[in-house]
Amino acid sequence: MEPIIKTENIKVIYNKGQDNQYIALNDISIEVFPEEYLIFFGPSGCGKSTLLYTILGLQKLSEGKLYIKGKDSASFSEAEKRNMDSQFFGIVFQNFNLIYSLNVLDNITLPQVFIEADQEARKAKAHTLLARFGIETRAKNLPASLSGGQQQRVAICRSLVNDPVVLLADEPVGNLDSESARIVMETLWDINKKDKKTVILVTHDPSYLPFADRIYYFKDAKLEKVVKNANPQPMHAKPNETPQSQGQDTPLGELEKMARAHNFMTVPQLKAWSVTNYLTDEFTVNQLERLEKCMEEILAGELSEHQFFERLNMPYSDGGVGLYRGTAIRFVRKISSVLKEVKEFLQHLKISKDPEKNAKLVDMLRKFLLEEYRGTLKEGQIELLEKGINDRLLGAMSAAQFSVLLDKPFAEGGVGLNSLTAEHLSERLEIILAQAYEVS
Ligand code: ADP
Repeated sequence: MEPIIKTENIKVIYNKGQDNQYIALNDISIEVFPEEYLIFFGPSGCGKSTLLYTILGLQKLSEGKLYIKGKDSASFSEAEKRNMDSQFFGIVFQNFNLIYSLNVLDNITLPQVFIEADQEARKAKAHTLLARFGIETRAKNLPASLSGGQQQRVAICRSLVNDPVVLLADEPVGNLDSESARIVMETLWDINKKDKKTVILVTHDPSYLPFADRIYYFKDAKLEKVVKNANPQPMHAKPNETPQSQGQDTPLGELEKMARAHNFMTVPQLKAWSVTNYLTDEFTVNQLERLEKCMEEILAGELSEHQFFERLNMPYSDGGVGLYRGTAIRFVRKISSVLKEVKEFLQHLKISKDPEKNAKLVDMLRKFLLEEYRGTLKEGQIELLEKGINDRLLGAMSAAQFSVLLDKPFAEGGVGLNSLTAEHLSERLEIILAQAYEVS
């Protein structure tokens, strides 16, 4: 098979001929084959990113040759170079590189401007990608209102919108917590295995090495070795996420930690934040601030449902949230159903070590979690889900482990949902548990 990318003895020298001349790549020859998952691995500063940018054509070669689809890059016309940037390669960066003044949808459709795609088709493609990665409700939000993991998924959607052949990912999970990192890494795995795209991952983290078909090891600007992985596989939870011991990780204990971490937030604010964060899809950052304030008041019983509606519907310039009447009505309905669930949950909040006694609570939480789930679960899956909820209530399982349990295939002892549903359901469980938190 012919390589789609090949470098021959390339050398990259920064500041050539000056006092601060630096050889960042020295005599590097690599080959990349179609549909491969490759990792460029090595310590910080060894030249991995330089190689990536050289392949992209953004970094000039000092010596050597770069071939893309068999053609010497030195002979590319301007049109061919542009075409490479916009259609052959997709790229994802460590710091997401989103445009923070544009909403999620516009961030994703932007690359298609350069290939003159039809506006509607472009939007439809972006929506399909957002739905696939479980963030379609965030389409109209500004990136800053999304979590880091969600922002990286937006960046992945953007990188895929032109349907590139090769996806380059430069330390894509370097800024993420371990659970978000796991989701992003599994997304890249799917893009390689299901979409059959070539993936090149740059990382200094050895825990991701099992993903790759082949690994190029770099050190001090040189290629040290190439290792073929006999049995590549996606990893699940990192080993340090194993529970310490039963009971140490109760949801309420976690919330207390969160309250401490967000020590600028009071407990009522934290609760309001948790529900708002969960329910809001289409709000601007300014509206969200107002909404959180109203949410705090309704949770504290200081606003009736009608007053809450009036505040939502009031124009922004008059101090309201500025929602259209229909949106405000829908939102009040949504929040009142969640509050009803929360209230019922709080009444039953007597967590017992005996699973029999928790049965009602677990049953209620299971129904709440599955309210919007469109698939059907087999009896065995429901049993596992209920056991997971019970463990979560007892603190025998962390939120991250609960999500892993939902995601793991049924044959391997998990509930067997896909990773995005798993993430969504565990978020749903956490928001309801958050409401039970009181200051002691
Ligand atoms: P890695 O991705 O492995 O961390 P890089 O390719 O980013 O490494 O950098 C390799 C080396 O080249 C580093 O020592 C870095 O400081 C240096 N370097 C990177 N970019 C430049 C530049 N534009 N000018 C001078 N030196 C650079």
